[in-house]
Amino acid sequence: MPSNSTSRSNVRRVLRGQSASPGLALGKCVILHEEKPAVNDRVLEEAEVDAEVARFDLAVADARRELLELRGKVMEEVGQSEAKVFDAHLLFLDDQELIGSTRKAVVSQRREAGFLLRRKSEELVQRFARIPDAYLRERAIDLEDVSERVVRQLAKGQRRRAIELHEPSIVVAHNLNPSTLTQLRVRNVLGIATDLGGPTSHVAILARALHLPAVSGLSSASSLLRSGDVVALDGNAGTLVIHPTEKERKAVADRQEALRRFELELFSLRDLPSVTMDGRPVLLSANIELPVEAENAISVGAHGIGLYRTEFIYLGQGHLPTEDEQLGAYRFIVERMAPRPVTIRTLDAGGDKIVDALQGAQPDQNPFMGWRSIRMCLDRPDIFMPQLRAILRSSAHGQVRVLFPMIADIHELREAKKMLEHAREELVSQGVRIPAKVPIGAMVEIPAAALCVETLARECDFLSVGTNDLTQFTLAVDRGSQRLSHLYDPLHPAVLRLIDRTVEGSRPFGTLVEVCGEVASDPVGALVMVGLGVDELSMSPWGILEVKKMLRSINWQDAREVAREVLELPGSREVRLHLQDRFKRKLAGLGMVSRALSRGTQKSNHR
Ligand code: PEP
Ligand code: MG
Repeated sequence: MPSNSTSRSNVRRVLRGQSASPGLALGKCVILHEEKPAVNDRVLEEAEVDAEVARFDLAVADARRELLELRGKVMEEVGQSEAKVFDAHLLFLDDQELIGSTRKAVVSQRREAGFLLRRKSEELVQRFARIPDAYLRERAIDLEDVSERVVRQLAKGQRRRAIELHEPSIVVAHNLNPSTLTQLRVRNVLGIATDLGGPTSHVAILARALHLPAVSGLSSASSLLRSGDVVALDGNAGTLVIHPTEKERKAVADRQEALRRFELELFSLRDLPSVTMDGRPVLLSANIELPVEAENAISVGAHGIGLYRTEFIYLGQGHLPTEDEQLGAYRFIVERMAPRPVTIRTLDAGGDKIVDALQGAQPDQNPFMGWRSIRMCLDRPDIFMPQLRAILRSSAHGQVRVLFPMIADIHELREAKKMLEHAREELVSQGVRIPAKVPIGAMVEIPAAALCVETLARECDFLSVGTNDLTQFTLAVDRGSQRLSHLYDPLHPAVLRLIDRTVEGSRPFGTLVEVCGEVASDPVGALVMVGLGVDELSMSPWGILEVKKMLRSINWQDAREVAREVLELPGSREVRLHLQDRFKRKLAGLGMVSRALSRGTQKSNHR
């Protein structure tokens, strides 16, 4: 929730982070603090009391079940003594002072259980804090942990409240997860600054989708600033100036004006073909997260939707969307885009895209590599089948392609295709009319998929390289990590060689290769991808015209030559230097900057 505290000092300071979404913003900031689930201090009607007690008992029972599962898992995988901590937690669930008295208070005070439990736990934590014994004092952490576990159970199924800003402001947060961002009403949001996160974290992707400037990896912005402080955010340079001078404010306003002029000029390219000077066509499509963005894709003349990240309709909801709700969203996009193709990616939940309604009792130690995405979907037909049915039903309204994420092995692809076929048979037997064939693709975002690409290419109509994850998994660098962001580089030769392998391995089967990771939206990144022989690039709609401008000004043969050269270079640094050498002048001539290359400059600052 936004904090209301006032300014600490008026000293000008410059914080350096990373460009997460281009653009400039100037204005007051609002600090958003991470939220515990909301509890409601509401007096209950007499008739509601029994149901509230029952709801509380159920939440305690569910928390107990979660803890027992966790204890079993830790005992099996780690050891008996490590599992003991959960015994302490389980004991708190039987505690009369915490649980028993909350239960009684629901009846005597007629208040919601979540509110009463949190109040009781805060009171007990304070009491623990006064105990001289350090061991007992630390039990306060266990107690709070347990009571919040029950509060989370009580909050399950509750729709999260929308966060509204009352005046145009720059949002500053320690970390923003995508579901909090989807709660934020974008009206009045001028830009976003976070202490954590990197340029391919999902919050950065959403910021770009919403056309909001954003800077991530600022380390301490949320603690240095107070709501109401004036800041200047530069999403291109990756900086945040606190209390900018008059001169700096004027410079931001002038640059905003110049940016507007540049964007207007780009719009003149909208209906021109996307083709290199020597005649190589490259399809430029849009990545979208929200159905309303179909409009943005059309406004920039996108070939189609190359990636629709469906998980965003699952975020921030207390429940899983029904088949009909999903159909509503898909159909809206498919009809709006028709006759252009729409690639609907099946649920890619997990990592930082946490779906509340799916958060299991056993969070993975390493969520990006955990039980997520296609792995979870194949295990949970109750979730996957309604989505597949909704996608197939939407295909009756336009051109739909289905894309399966996180494929590491041919058997996963086959299993997913089998379930899709099953969904088709069900629909046909119910008399639903759907096209005879829907093109099927797999994402190449795990090195295994690139290395064994022939097996996938043979059984797919198209492949989509997700460079955001491919980079993360190839270089073993968390894509959201601020500390490691200098090591995260989609232009690292190892990543480029995997993309080259994907293109070359697909060629004998005539399978189209698209790149839908963030590198595709960078003018130089796009050029390298095209040089590697990629057929289609899909990116945030706002990157399309800039990339088109770049492609229309180069020869494909030159791009090929550059791609061959960088493939042979020893490391990331050499690739960037080489590309800077080749394209610095061209970029300046076109009035563009390459985020992929300027990230390289920031990297050396870390050293
Ligand atoms: C990718 O990994 O490159 C990708 C496009 O998917 P996402 O960013 O949604 O993980
Ligand atoms: Mg991915």
